[in-house]
Amino acid sequence: MSSRVRQRRQGASLVPFSAIAAVFLALSVVLSGGVAYQFHRMSYPSVGLADSVGAKPTYLVLLVLDGARPDYFHLTALPHVDALRAQGVEYDRAWAGILESETPSGHATISTGSTPSRDGLLGFNWINSVNDAVRLFDPNVVRAGGIEKVMQQAGAPTIASAFKRRYPNATVVAVSGHKYYAADPLGGPKADYILYYNGDAQGHYVPTAIPGHVPPASVFEGAGLTWPSTTMPPGGEDTIAVKLALSAFTHLHQQVTLVNLPEFDWPLGHVYGSDVAKTRYLMQAFDGDLGHIEDAYRKAGVLDKTLFVITADHGMMPLRYQIPDSVLDNAVTQAGTTSPETTYQSAGYIWLQDPSKAQMVADNIVKAKNSHIQSVYFKVPGSSGGTYVLDSGLPIPADVDRANQVLLQSFLGGNAPSVVAFCTEDSAFVTKGAETWKANHGGGSWASQHVPLILAGPGVAQAGLSHAPARLEDVAPTILSIMGASPKGMQGIALADAMQYPTGRQVSAQAAANKALQPVVEALMKQAGSEARSGGRH
Ligand SMILES: [Zn+2]
Repeated sequence: MSSRVRQRRQGASLVPFSAIAAVFLALSVVLSGGVAYQFHRMSYPSVGLADSVGAKPTYLVLLVLDGARPDYFHLTALPHVDALRAQGVEYDRAWAGILESETPSGHATISTGSTPSRDGLLGFNWINSVNDAVRLFDPNVVRAGGIEKVMQQAGAPTIASAFKRRYPNATVVAVSGHKYYAADPLGGPKADYILYYNGDAQGHYVPTAIPGHVPPASVFEGAGLTWPSTTMPPGGEDTIAVKLALSAFTHLHQQVTLVNLPEFDWPLGHVYGSDVAKTRYLMQAFDGDLGHIEDAYRKAGVLDKTLFVITADHGMMPLRYQIPDSVLDNAVTQAGTTSPETTYQSAGYIWLQDPSKAQMVADNIVKAKNSHIQSVYFKVPGSSGGTYVLDSGLPIPADVDRANQVLLQSFLGGNAPSVVAFCTEDSAFVTKGAETWKANHGGGSWASQHVPLILAGPGVAQAGLSHAPARLEDVAPTILSIMGASPKGMQGIALADAMQYPTGRQVSAQAAANKALQPVVEALMKQAGSEARSGGRH
């Protein structure tokens, strides 16, 4: 899995009348719901009361189901998840809101409450300001501090740093199965312990830790924490990661537990294309693991003091079309330059040796006339990272362009690529080693962006379903606000409709964000529908 692919959506123009009517109907329902929501919220006590009402959770369990689609949560009864949904809030339009929609950047955004432009983590690979390649798929790079140095240099606060600023004696633990590149940004430099799994010299699957975040040996010594082979049965890797988190809880009693569950992404999404029977099985296994966490917290007497948050780091887009990566490579060569780094998934990201050739490269991609490329943007230098300009050879609806621009903004200012080519929904660029993948992510398609988000626990409103366009960057500010810590310095907002006692300022901030982002999310959803129906761009 060393090379990674991607793909995405396109701008089709033929939308049947029934689809337009459906969109209008959906819009009117959303808008009336939004108004009702605001009135409902305005009737709550504001500012001064918020801090004096209700008990705050003192424990956090944040579960990131890697690449899990929201529809996985509706395939079968999930007693423990369903109980959380019933007592808390579930977002049906939550989205990553960033580029790249990849594992390191998704986890960093969850942890920092900020976008890659602010936290510095763009994806797996990019070219930094001194023209060096950053490559984070290598465990040795990550173990040597490759991710944490980027985060430290960017200086964005994290859940761990903000929580410890408020509660200096708190312990923070981040855990994954094999994804060191998820656990490390999820915990960040201030996490006490960052744990994950790898194969040892005997071929056993064993827990380990990122240097500088190594726990007492007892954490690794509990029953069932190793596996005699690196090949595990379905659900096994996720379950053993939860066991490791609970072993830490037994020995360290940490307040903050951040867990990445890798199997929804790999193998379920990429390899099996979210096969329904396999998805149902994995979700049931997850529900069982959630039950084990609840049992352990109940036994410790802190279950009713625990905030539970369930989300994903990015979406998972079923793949119907594979665009050869030569379409992008040739465009670079024909422009007379080279690309020291590229990432080809459900969007193509190209860093150029000669960035002044960006428009020429974009034009060349357009000239290839591949109907599964939705749009191409090239970067024009300027203050605060420059701007992205849509290549006029491949026009798209104005609302889709605005949505793409919101996504592109999320990494502008950082070491963003010179050229970005968005694929149509259900399409991705294919690279060597990923030819057989059945689903992918990485770009701006709705399926790459759409994520689940559920919150429950003390301080969380029993709000049922929310249509608010919650982003990954809103997760940390919401958690910290509910737990009485400050999200100062984070770009995201506290989701007031998730909070039992939001302040007036939080309610206004969310109303403003909803107003700005609802059209963005709706444009992505509408475009996804039209591209999926037309099978590409026409
Ligand atoms: Zn991921």
